[in-house]
Amino acid sequence: MMRVRPFLIAAGVLVGGYAALSFLGAILLNRDLNQVSACEVRLGRLSLALMHYASDHDGNLPAASAWASAIVGTEPSLHQVISEADFKCPQARSAYGYAMPASLGGASLYDLKHPESTVLLVEYETGSMNGVATDPGAIPRGRHGGRVAVVYADGHGGGINYIAAREELADTLKLGHAGNATSR
Ligand SMILES: [Zn+2]
Repeated sequence: MMRVRPFLIAAGVLVGGYAALSFLGAILLNRDLNQVSACEVRLGRLSLALMHYASDHDGNLPAASAWASAIVGTEPSLHQVISEADFKCPQARSAYGYAMPASLGGASLYDLKHPESTVLLVEYETGSMNGVATDPGAIPRGRHGGRVAVVYADGHGGGINYIAAREELADTLKLGHAGNATSR
């Protein structure tokens, strides 16, 4: 890493360029936030479809390796059929954009001890529509200015810092087989 130059020099640059930089920064930030919002809406629809699936299967989620296949073509809200395009993040460099933690495959939503902090779906670098999250490090840091869209097992979600998202995925992966280890 480069060392920061004495701040007097930096201050001279900043005074001249601050207005332009902050204006540019506001535009970029706004663009990033708009895109993470689009991601949040998309993940919200996918999680709603998963909730419907679970309610049709005694509370059980599909296998992690088939979660997207289980809900594509379903209609979680009126006239909003889930299509393959819904599994892509506009900013993803990988073919698809989202994943379900491996520990939640086949898990019962009713048995989760802390659904409000259990990651149900999260942005992830994956080439599969049925992305399976096994590595917190594969949560991208560069899609939306360091923020990633995440939805929890209680259905709430939002855009959060990628470091926090990685920590929450790591905790969710500790739930172990079928996500129920902490409920015993
Ligand atoms: Zn995204």
